[in-house]
Amino acid sequence: MDYDVIVAGVGVAGAFTLMNLPRDVNAAGIDKRHVLGYPVECGEIVPSKKEMKILLPDLNDHSIFEIPEEFAVNRTRRFVFVLPDGREIEVDFDMLVLNRDTMIQKIAERSGHELILGKRFDYDDCIVVDGKKLSSRVIVASDGANSVIRRKMGIGGFEVSPAKQYVMDGFEGDEKAIYMYVGKRISAGGYAWIIPKGNGIANVGVGFRQEYAEKGDNIHKALDRFVKSWIHSSEMLRNATIRGKIGAVVPVDLPMKKTVYRNVVFVGDSASMVISHVGAGIPTSMVAGKIAGKVISGYLSGENGIDEYDRLWREVLLKPMENGYFVKRMWDEMAVRDERILRYFRLVTEKDMSAILRARLPLKVRIARAFMPVLNMFF
Ligand SMILES: Cc1cc2nc3c(=O)[nH]c(=O)nc-3n(C[C@H](O)[C@H](O)[C@H](O)COP(=O)(O)OP(=O)(O)OC[C@H]3O[C@@H](n4cnc5c(N)ncnc54)[C@H](O)[C@@H]3O)c2cc1C
Repeated sequence: MDYDVIVAGVGVAGAFTLMNLPRDVNAAGIDKRHVLGYPVECGEIVPSKKEMKILLPDLNDHSIFEIPEEFAVNRTRRFVFVLPDGREIEVDFDMLVLNRDTMIQKIAERSGHELILGKRFDYDDCIVVDGKKLSSRVIVASDGANSVIRRKMGIGGFEVSPAKQYVMDGFEGDEKAIYMYVGKRISAGGYAWIIPKGNGIANVGVGFRQEYAEKGDNIHKALDRFVKSWIHSSEMLRNATIRGKIGAVVPVDLPMKKTVYRNVVFVGDSASMVISHVGAGIPTSMVAGKIAGKVISGYLSGENGIDEYDRLWREVLLKPMENGYFVKRMWDEMAVRDERILRYFRLVTEKDMSAILRARLPLKVRIARAFMPVLNMFF
């Protein structure tokens, strides 16, 4: 046996799995990137520990969200949610903006486990690197939304949304706010964001689902419009320059129904472990990675079965994921026209938004969902 555990893909999920595997376990993390987490394909926000207690009330120990200062470059205090006509809904919300690549690298390095970087793996009933089959008792499939392991095992996929992001220098808005924008012209079927990292640097991006777009439009045009001419955002970016560009996909679906197949354990985006209405997968990947590490370690020493992982992550993460998906499905119906978004949002107060962003479902939202088939005829 080459290894006890191979962690295939070292993003957030892989790094937190490695960190929670004891050092005497013979484990290796493999990633195609030479520098883990880089380039950063992420907005890099994580709710503070205080907020995570509200978001994940069934988690016993929230200490994983005591993010060290070395990884957090900014702390924001509110969301400003901007509707297509410019109306703003402001919600107090405590968030940390990370240097996500630094966090992944340091967490993986400090795990003490072997890291094999700059190597693309394949899967053929085991992990294959440079044509060589590597044997292991357990494989952690933490290889992201486009998981090659999932595909090669013939496991069905899930809905993803394309996203494109610029890192910009010269942002001139409020660095204590995270801006979220909706509207067909800039973020068809999704939302656009400005996430300040401090000192004028900001992650500026759009989620964009082609089926919601106007004919001839695309994600590239939408992001440029958002940056250069969208009346509600471009003012704050008029002197900003683009420092980096990325394109990636984010799962916007429920998590997979089963996440352990024989000796393969799916963690993070590979299993669609996201809070889909906001596209948040960092905190869920951190928690799932921790649970995976602990369960696998118990499995190797004969204390528990490996299937225990499937039960334990669901206990703490499934409810907020389901609530997020409930809102996302409502959003799918609203986002077809800006007029419809505006009509629905006449009913939404700051208090409602505060709950929705925290993956809670106020009674009003549940009632609206039930009446949507009728409301849609008028909206
Ligand atoms: C534009 C964008 C913005 C986002 N913003 C936020 C945000 O602000 N907050 C938030 O919570 N979530 C956000 N998300 C979601 C979040 O980034 C992910 O849910 C989270 O990072 C998932 O981590 P992961 O480790 O599962 O996957 P990944 O981070 O994708 O890691 C997978 C790793 O596997 C490696 N890999 C894949 N295939 C192979 C292979 N064949 N061989 C070798 N290596 C391989 C990759 O190189 C990568 O390092 C965003 C997503 C996108 C796309």
